[in-house]
Amino acid sequence: MRAEVRPQPGPDRAARDAVEITVACLVHAGIACMTCRDVCPELAISMRPRMGGPFLPELDEAACTGCGECVAHCPADAIAAPRPDRHHG
Ligand code: SF4
Ligand code: SF4
Repeated sequence: MRAEVRPQPGPDRAARDAVEITVACLVHAGIACMTCRDVCPELAISMRPRMGGPFLPELDEAACTGCGECVAHCPADAIAAPRPDRHHG
């Protein structure tokens, strides 16, 4: 009999609470923006340099509390709030 596959141990709470940066982010249209990085009280968003375009925002899900500051300030409505279905358990 095979062992049951279990979810990876890890920051479950953080992963459930984390926001999601979507492809609507302005940097994908070639427009530099760091608003979410600047407003995040947890320093959960960093900007990753890349060739040929503005820096990409990168979310540290473990650090994100889902406070919503970045969601409220994003000029492109590109950040999705934590999904309610991830709050169970
Ligand atoms: S604030 Fe919005 S548009 Fe600006 S970098 Fe963050 S996700 Fe992209
Ligand atoms: S929801 Fe709050 S903690 Fe999470 S990335 Fe946005 S500003 Fe930072």
